[in-house]
Amino acid sequence: MTIKGRVFSGARPTGRQHLGNYLGAIKNYVALQDDYDCIYCIVDIHALTTVETTEDLKENIYEMALDWLAAGIRPEDSIVFIQSHVPYVMEMHTLLSMVTPLGKLTELPTFKEKIKQNPNNVNYGLVGYPVLMTADIVLYKADTVPVGVDQAPHLEFAREIVRSFNYRYGTKVLIEPKVKHTEVLKVLGIDGKKKMSKSLDNHIELAATPEETDKRVMQMLTDPQRVRREDPGDPDVCNVFSMHKIFSPKDEIEMINTECRRAGIGCVDCKKRFSANLNKHLEPFRAKRAEIEKSPDSVWDILRDGAKRANAIAKDVIEETRAAIGLPE
Ligand code: ADP
Repeated sequence: MTIKGRVFSGARPTGRQHLGNYLGAIKNYVALQDDYDCIYCIVDIHALTTVETTEDLKENIYEMALDWLAAGIRPEDSIVFIQSHVPYVMEMHTLLSMVTPLGKLTELPTFKEKIKQNPNNVNYGLVGYPVLMTADIVLYKADTVPVGVDQAPHLEFAREIVRSFNYRYGTKVLIEPKVKHTEVLKVLGIDGKKKMSKSLDNHIELAATPEETDKRVMQMLTDPQRVRREDPGDPDVCNVFSMHKIFSPKDEIEMINTECRRAGIGCVDCKKRFSANLNKHLEPFRAKRAEIEKSPDSVWDILRDGAKRANAIAKDVIEETRAAIGLPE
């Protein structure tokens, strides 16, 4: 029997998840459970670096957890928990900060981008974001971290922090995580231009009703060159077609690919078909979500149980780390 690797991944609590989250993260989270011991964390402390108000924080955590569970994250196999429920992470963050060069943190592209987005809120936490991320990874002895391209520099930096720590204290206590590059496709919003995102209000929620989904899909941009029904279209530049390729049966994809090019099918019909296929695909998800929603406490229980299991791992690692540094018992 081979020992499974351990995956850690965190996501900020953004409430109800959309198609971008699903195709870019959740689907992969679900699949990884077959090959790894997975730890999935809702990083509420990380969220504090940019949120303006915490009014919706609990609800956002709940809705996101609900979506994860309904999508197939199995709490009996994986640890699903809230970051702040394991306070050891703050300690690990502080300990790692001592071996983290400040100059490098401020040079990271994501940091530069964040200060551009929030010029009036360049806080200390924002600078330390990658250190807190590293603390999460090492605290649970994760050896594998799935990342998309945008997070790759953070992961490389996390590995450097781990190496510096182990070198400085002559230890091997912290595990240098391996990057698992995930083929993340960038899902465009209904505007067909920008990345699908809640803040841009160009998203399609997984938990939307079929009617709401139809409405959103009808607003999707298709091939911008195709103005009239009788114009032939180009599926290669059409966002709706890119979605068909994921959610529609093979013969339907082929039919649309051919018929769109010779104006045999119009955009409205094409969107109706996509919406129907998407709704069908999401049916089991929505049914499971509705079922779990009947007892909201069960979601919080799962998160609390996950925190218990996460705390047990973290406690040992923190003790080993303190000992490796030479802090008194
Ligand atoms: P975070 O700051 O935690 O990454 P987001 O809500 O931006 O929060 O994203 C959560 C996850 O969903 C990330 O893995 C991100 O890459 C993925 N994701 C979000 N939007 C999209 C999108 N439009 N296309 C592909 N993946 C996306």
